[in-house]
Amino acid sequence: MKTVKFGGSSMADAIQFSKVRDIVLADEKRRIVVVSAPGKRDKNDSKVTDMLYDCYAKAARGIPFADEFAAIEERYNAIIRDLNLDISLDEEFENIKDAFAHRAGRDYAASRGEYLNGLLFAKYIGFEFIEPASCIFFNDNGVFDPDATYPVLSERLKKAGRAVIPGFYGAMPNDTIKTFSRGGSDITGSIAARASGSEIYENWTDVSGFLVADPRIVENPEPIETITYKELRELSYMGAGVLHEEAIFPVRTAGIPINIRNTNKPSDKGTLIVDEAKDGSRFTITGIAGKKGFSVINIEKDLMNAEIGFGRNVLRALEKSNLSFEHMPSGVDTMSVIISTDALKPKQTDVIDEIRERVHPDVLTVEDNLALIAVVGRGMKRTRGTAGRIFSALAHANVNVKMIDQGSSEINVIIGVAEDDFETAVNAVYDIFVKTVV
Ligand code: ADP
Ligand code: ASP
Ligand code: MG
Repeated sequence: MKTVKFGGSSMADAIQFSKVRDIVLADEKRRIVVVSAPGKRDKNDSKVTDMLYDCYAKAARGIPFADEFAAIEERYNAIIRDLNLDISLDEEFENIKDAFAHRAGRDYAASRGEYLNGLLFAKYIGFEFIEPASCIFFNDNGVFDPDATYPVLSERLKKAGRAVIPGFYGAMPNDTIKTFSRGGSDITGSIAARASGSEIYENWTDVSGFLVADPRIVENPEPIETITYKELRELSYMGAGVLHEEAIFPVRTAGIPINIRNTNKPSDKGTLIVDEAKDGSRFTITGIAGKKGFSVINIEKDLMNAEIGFGRNVLRALEKSNLSFEHMPSGVDTMSVIISTDALKPKQTDVIDEIRERVHPDVLTVEDNLALIAVVGRGMKRTRGTAGRIFSALAHANVNVKMIDQGSSEINVIIGVAEDDFETAVNAVYDIFVKTVV
């Protein structure tokens, strides 16, 4: 059997609902269907999840929220009307409003987007509805609890014929609702695929698979046919938003491949995510992804390399402030530590003082507004001169490279550039490896 997950844009309105139904019914193996809350119908629209967060923020402060809630109701009522469904969610809406007024919690609020959409879609397609709060569990620290979840969920899915499960949430030990982080319906899909022993996890979205680069940065990027979990992990971590970065773990250990597909172009093959790819990708690189919002702590000290324990002392200073770092490129007498700016700022003074005290550097500076770009590909291992090509492409595009770091696995090169150069840099790397080939 197959587990299929449909994202927000795939579930945004009645037209999308009917496309999704056609896709599910086209293959009787598609038995477990995980749905997101309705997403954006066009660029300027809002996601229901965001509407729920905003609405609840008001409720929690005791501010009237009826108008905001009415807009959410209308998203569902429009679907009911347009599909001529014989169902009313009015009672559900009343219960939710009541819970909002009694401050049921932010996670509860956000989860209602998926919950209501799951109810509607189950009714529309005629499948059973499965309540995730009764079979997906978190521990007291709010971390997904596989030991508690899998026995219950497997049993539940075995009993079901064909079923719809809302994504994004489950229950805490005290029965309150807990959500995954944003985009977390991908994780629910992966968990359900594993619990049901599915042969494949199809993740349906609004692009024809994982593309070599973010389509919002590069015009019309080429799709990736096959990508390994490792490559995907590097790209997702660096911001390629197609799949939640934690969604690969449940299926990966069970050896279940993921297929990213396009709800709006169901005949496209999409991207297959596998453990080990037999052949390389079409290009030397598999993908490019990147993020803005990093800071660099630059440390200089003569004869640093001869000073035993220098690096450890710097890392101790970070540890003391509970900061994790992204990269740590070093030279003979220099060392840089790259940290997310949001994480660093509140602790910057403490960390800098601590580093000064521990290692007495000659120069210690912090530079903000850095963007990191990951160039990832299993093909880079057997190809010489990849870093050289990246450098020359960036030099041609007038981009100053502030940092370069090659992972020891040799499947990724990380480049640091000024945030203002980010889009130019991604396009330059894309052009040199992909455009010159196709
Ligand atoms: P869903 O609502 O279906 O979960 P998401 O918005 O979470 O969909 O993910 C799909 C989006 O990811 C695409 O519309 C695209 O804008 C973005 N994206 C970012 N990087 C990439 C990439 N490398 N390939 C494809 N899409 C990407
Ligand atoms: N609806 C949730 C979000 O917007 C979860 C998801 O779509 O995966 O983050
Ligand atoms: Mg998503």
